[in-house]
Amino acid sequence: MRLNGKIALITGAGSGIGRCSALAFAGEGAAVVVNDLDEAKAEETAERIREAGGTAAAIGADVTDPLSVQSMVERALAQFGRIDVLFNNAGISGVGALHEVEPDDWDRVIRVNIRGVYLPSKVVLPSMMQQKSGVIINMSSCVAEIGLAKRASYSASKGAVLALTKSMQVDYVSYGIRVNALLPGTILTPFVEQYLKSSYDDPEAAIASIKKRQLSEELGSPEDVAQAAVFLASDESKFMMGSPLYIDGGAVFG
Ligand code: NAD
Repeated sequence: MRLNGKIALITGAGSGIGRCSALAFAGEGAAVVVNDLDEAKAEETAERIREAGGTAAAIGADVTDPLSVQSMVERALAQFGRIDVLFNNAGISGVGALHEVEPDDWDRVIRVNIRGVYLPSKVVLPSMMQQKSGVIINMSSCVAEIGLAKRASYSASKGAVLALTKSMQVDYVSYGIRVNALLPGTILTPFVEQYLKSSYDDPEAAIASIKKRQLSEELGSPEDVAQAAVFLASDESKFMMGSPLYIDGGAVFG
């Protein structure tokens, strides 16, 4: 198994890509600390892992809140002794061209998507620096690289996550820590369903046009991204440092 004996903390793992990644990590032998803002959803993921014979603990915490993150990491370290992999997956959507985005909505997206990477990393890093090893996976998006209509705040946030990933890699490489970013295209999850419903009168037509934008002409699945996350978490990707990994069905060529 590719993650045997590893301890992984995955944020936003009560749904979508995070939940699927938690199940995939556990299937590869990792013990998983399942975080979500919604504790019940995190517990549901952890329960599914335990039912499959794996090891998991659920911790409800807001990744934008320092006390909440501190207490989550302390609980994880108390229970498992170390954190080998931090997957900063939690994120929210934001719609609208720049002139349409209200300041509060702008701040909400920037806060969750950037601060939600900064804070868990800040609190986990000292233990990784001490153990002189660790992997951090940051959830960016293909919108960090390509222009998509009406995604101003979201694109800005995910571009920042990619830049932050590279900066972090340079700062922590001497501690044996690797930091890489995932750049998914459109993956059918509750996040995308909600975005389509709130942004389009005809979500089915929107899906058809999104499919056309990707070379694959299909949407991705959470499993596609989870498998890429397993690869980044494992030693198989040991020569990847500060890299963007696209799982976008060719959206960057669309
Ligand atoms: P999702 O909505 O299904 O899951 C996101 C989870 O994050 C939810 O369970 C939510 O409760 C949790 N969350 C939100 N705010 C949080 C907070 N402050 N603290 C802790 N947890 C919080 O979404 P998803 O599609 O699985 O997306 C996961 C990540 O992948 C996001 O960062 C998203 O931007 C990114 N992404 C998704 C797609 C896609 O097409 N689905 C594409 C590119 C990138």
